[in-house]
Amino acid sequence: MAEVALRNVVKRYGSYEAVRGISLEIPDTKFVALVGPSGCGKTTTLRMIAGLEDLSAGEISIGGRIINDVAPKNRDIAMVFQSYALYPHMTVAQNMSFGLKLRGMAKSDVKRRVEDAARILDIAELLNRRPGALSGGQRQRVAMGRAIVRNPKVFLFDEPLSNLDAKLRVQMRTEIKRIHQQVQTTTIYVTHDQIEAMTLADYIVVMNRGHIEQMGTPHEVYHAPKTRFVAGFMGSPAMNFIPCTLEQNASALSLRLSDGVSLPVPASRLQRYQPLAGKSVIFGLRPEHITEPRSEARGTFSEFMAVPDVVEPMGTEAMVFFKLGDAAVSGRVDSSASVPVAGEKLRLVANMAHMHLIDPESGAVV
Ligand code: ATP
Repeated sequence: MAEVALRNVVKRYGSYEAVRGISLEIPDTKFVALVGPSGCGKTTTLRMIAGLEDLSAGEISIGGRIINDVAPKNRDIAMVFQSYALYPHMTVAQNMSFGLKLRGMAKSDVKRRVEDAARILDIAELLNRRPGALSGGQRQRVAMGRAIVRNPKVFLFDEPLSNLDAKLRVQMRTEIKRIHQQVQTTTIYVTHDQIEAMTLADYIVVMNRGHIEQMGTPHEVYHAPKTRFVAGFMGSPAMNFIPCTLEQNASALSLRLSDGVSLPVPASRLQRYQPLAGKSVIFGLRPEHITEPRSEARGTFSEFMAVPDVVEPMGTEAMVFFKLGDAAVSGRVDSSASVPVAGEKLRLVANMAHMHLIDPESGAVV
């Protein structure tokens, strides 16, 4: 086990900078997810840690040792890819033990490691089968088994669940978390799926266009995003962004939307937002903070009327989509008693205690 550190790491392909000077410290035993849209540089970053790509500039260290010039096989890492890359002519046990035998490990040690990993992964009864006779989820487990037997300092995962169907993906997600809790190996996990990142990781690194927008715990990146990009990327359905003006009325502040709706800023935020009084801002609020009026609502809840154009029932809750000013907005209402109807007026409340304000020019959350 070891900590992993990246210092000002750059990757250029010709004149194109795919990774633009990122710095990152991953503590020993922690699970870190690199998340971001397609092309943001997450796989390139992972491949540089693995030694499959050279760095154009910067430094990577594992366990305090700079590994820029260390060959991949000597980095003491194990990588699990999206394509499991199992040998079809070998049994599960042979697939898992192949790398260890190549390294000249004693037969009895190899056997013990394979059996231990098979127990952790619950694939002991599959050891004599070939990959062709396994389900997708089982193959995924074998690919992980091959990484676990090596007892590496660091696990690297590149979108390991994207070949599985939705249900299996959720199951294997829990499985990966359980295995990490058991083996406690420092793990770096690349995914474009923010829910996978939220559910699995101790820390999330949100990447965008080759740089890091924010690193933090799942709670931090969700509840205290630093930029509009992070606010919009984490969370599904995405946070609502509503252009408005921050108005000063005596000592109070309120958000004036384009259709005249005015939403008061809670007293606890007055000091923070005072410097923006009179300015155009973007008001951010997650759908779960726009709901039907609730009996416990006090103080920070602001009521308004809306006419949803689309209603999506989801069981005990329904998503409602409507216009607020010129902005398309979604809310999440309790539908256990009755489901809202598209085209009919609906009373909603915005829980302003969860509001965010974004500077439209810099994209920074204020
Ligand atoms: P995805 O989720 O689609 O895999 P990603 O965030 O992992 O996206 P990368 O694969 O790291 O993205 O790619 C980052 C950028 O670098 C992309 O614009 C990609 O086109 C570019 N890139 C990657 N590999 C090469 C290469 N060998 N030559 C030139 N450009 C490359």
